[in-house]
Amino acid sequence: MTARPRGPLAEGERVLLVDRKDRRYLVRLVAGGSFQSHAGVLEHDELIGSEEGSEHVARQRDGGGGPGRRFLVLRPTLSDLVLKMPRGAQVIYPKDLGAILVAADVFGGARVLEAGVGSGALSMALLGAGAEVVGYELREDFARRARANVAEALGPAAPYRVEERDVYEGISEVGLDRVLLDLPEPWRVVGHAEEALLPGGILLAYLPTINQTAELRERLARSCFGLAETFEVLRRTWHLEGRSVRPDHRMVAHTGFLTTARLLSTKGG
Ligand code: SAH
Repeated sequence: MTARPRGPLAEGERVLLVDRKDRRYLVRLVAGGSFQSHAGVLEHDELIGSEEGSEHVARQRDGGGGPGRRFLVLRPTLSDLVLKMPRGAQVIYPKDLGAILVAADVFGGARVLEAGVGSGALSMALLGAGAEVVGYELREDFARRARANVAEALGPAAPYRVEERDVYEGISEVGLDRVLLDLPEPWRVVGHAEEALLPGGILLAYLPTINQTAELRERLARSCFGLAETFEVLRRTWHLEGRSVRPDHRMVAHTGFLTTARLLSTKGG
């Protein structure tokens, strides 16, 4: 696992700047650099060497009229990175990433095949949990972006390899612990996963519609997989301010359905 920096913020690190209205900016600290926003200018040199959670006052851009707004500086969490990093494909949202790690029982040293890789949000969560990840991704531009996003978040030594290939055509790896799928037709991977997973291994698929989910479940029912389960994650945040304590008015009501199944015996066994 790659160690995360601790202690005072150093040059070269990415930090999250949060203003009073909870607007968030991901910024890489460069000596002599400055962060410019509508709320004023913050010098990176003031942030470098400061502690996480410290507050900094921006200087107003025109030079006059007193101080600008205040910003908190913190190291970004995985959720911050996933929501802020460059993405081409739709990323898996943090609420689902957490559920996936437990539903697929991703453990330190687990050998995981992930397809498709997209922008690498799920890859980052898997690697953060200590898995060794091989990714299959159809599109060369997405594969490149995922590698860059992962290297940026976890360093170049993360146990991560992305191949540009179609997982519907087969899986070369054997002895896998987990196969995680975020692509349109995961039923086309069930036969390949039977060959590639160890007995007891887990297949997990993330799908936006229940029609796709039903098709996957039918295919799983005709396979060596068992103990299939399908669920979704509804996360409702709350507003707590003085005597106003209630659910927030808005929520992300739908992202995807998660399906898991375990390989009960190898093909023909
Ligand atoms: N889970 C990713 C997002 C994946 S988006 C994240 O969290 O960032 C779905 C990806 O699957 C797309 O990048 C698409 O190019 C890829 N894909 C679709 N079909 C595929 C296939 N047959 N083999 C490999 N990748 C595929």
